[in-house]
Amino acid sequence: MIIMYHEAGEHSKKKEEARMDKMSTEKMKNMVRTDVVIVGTGASGLYCALQFPEETEILMITKDAVENSDSFLAQGGISTLKNAEDYESYYSDTMIAGRYENNPKAVEVMIKSSPETMKDLMALGVEFDRTEEGTLSYTREGAHSTFRILHHKDITGKEITSKLLARVRERAHVTIEEYTTMVDIVEENGECKGIIMWDKNNSPKVVYAKTVIWANGGIGGLFVNSTNYSHLTGDSLAIALLHGIDIQDINYIQIHPTTLYSKKPGRRFLISESVRGEGAILLNPDGERFVDELLPRDVVTEAICKEMEKFETDHVYLSLTFLDPEETKERFPNIYLKCLNEGIDITKEYIPVTPAQHYFMGGVKVDLNSQTSMKNLYAIGEAACNGVHGANRLASNSLLESLVFAKRAALKVMEDLKETVSSQPETEQPVDLGVYSDRKQIEEKYRKLILDEIKRKDEKFYAKWCNNAGKH
Ligand SMILES: Cc1cc2nc3c(=O)[nH]c(=O)nc-3n(C[C@H](O)[C@H](O)[C@H](O)COP(=O)(O)OP(=O)(O)OC[C@H]3O[C@@H](n4cnc5c(N)ncnc54)[C@H](O)[C@@H]3O)c2cc1C
Repeated sequence: MIIMYHEAGEHSKKKEEARMDKMSTEKMKNMVRTDVVIVGTGASGLYCALQFPEETEILMITKDAVENSDSFLAQGGISTLKNAEDYESYYSDTMIAGRYENNPKAVEVMIKSSPETMKDLMALGVEFDRTEEGTLSYTREGAHSTFRILHHKDITGKEITSKLLARVRERAHVTIEEYTTMVDIVEENGECKGIIMWDKNNSPKVVYAKTVIWANGGIGGLFVNSTNYSHLTGDSLAIALLHGIDIQDINYIQIHPTTLYSKKPGRRFLISESVRGEGAILLNPDGERFVDELLPRDVVTEAICKEMEKFETDHVYLSLTFLDPEETKERFPNIYLKCLNEGIDITKEYIPVTPAQHYFMGGVKVDLNSQTSMKNLYAIGEAACNGVHGANRLASNSLLESLVFAKRAALKVMEDLKETVSSQPETEQPVDLGVYSDRKQIEEKYRKLILDEIKRKDEKFYAKWCNNAGKH
């Protein structure tokens, strides 16, 4: 069933009926046809959808509820080029964090596109925190040489993504289906012709589309300790491996140094880097500081691991008790309340923290227009790898990267669509949906495929961080 979010007036109702006529059960019960399928409703997928004109029929699918994407969880903020003078410094911070393995062109494109992206976001209704004088307020995170991160308290992702979602819901040409999972693509003569998805009732369906855009996020769901939603299992990676679509840097996986330590199972709560940016310090069980908290994430993680080994413990401490309590509550309301619920008053007590999987720098290999190695198939956001982050992501570069390259993908797809207007085939190759009936078995196969590939690329990383992977 297709969920309709657009309850507007007569005009859009008529359009909706016409669209349903065309798109719903065309020819066969289990077949849908549309112009563009976007797999994923996080920031990258939503922003991408907003770039298309109303003539382009778009189906967006998401594995879970539409609010359950990592984009909603982003706390710290979104980096931007504050002024032309900051370009060299921002570029160099990104390259240093990425250990110079970044794609320099992608970094340049991302940074230079950032002011326009911020303007765009604000025009779409996103509100960033401002100073008392009314100018934009910038914060700082690890490995940034200066304050260049826009934020909305400590719920920047929610502010951005909910506004994008609201704008998408106003578009009658975009349909969102929740609890719907891409399990495969339709490949014909080496080109992508659509996707296979499990609907809400676990029934496999074919969606034929002129273009498919993967915006299905990261791989945290493969790890026991991760800040990500557990349904983010890198499905596009497994599908890419099966179809011979190029992937890149599958072993470049970021471990965040400071997640709230807990013995409870489930997603790990992030203590944003901006807390350290505002001066919080890391302490070992003896109450000694042991690292410069603003070094890149991999360096801080390594220092914490060493300390945990030395003290034979599974966590260290983060302290911001020296900040004015009211300031802490005002600046980090989400973190303050979450910790309070766990019995920790961060204005008075140290926060127990431990590293956990957080971000995936690698992904499906794409060019600067987010095009994969397969025709008609694009990848954006955390699912994609255009090399912008190199070996390690600079804090708050991921939302920006997701948005910048989502827009570029949409612009390129629009060009493609103009060329393929009349070449849509009348009849499509039939798909045997029977092979997708055992969901559990396929999910296990995909999980193993990805973890084996990570192991093949980096046994040391696998042994250290993927040890319990898959055991939920
Ligand atoms: C706790 C936390 C804090 C963060 N803080 C920041 C920050 O401050 N600044 C910053 O820049 N970045 C931050 N990040 C990273 C950033 O949020 C993500 O990299 C970014 O939001 C990814 O967006 P996305 O659109 O690629 O994917 P997501 O937002 O993760 O969305 C993925 C979508 O794909 C769907 N999906 C997955 N698989 C399938 C499938 N098989 N079929 C159908 N749908 C599927 C999901 O349901 C979801 O809708 C943070 C991440 C986390 C987890």
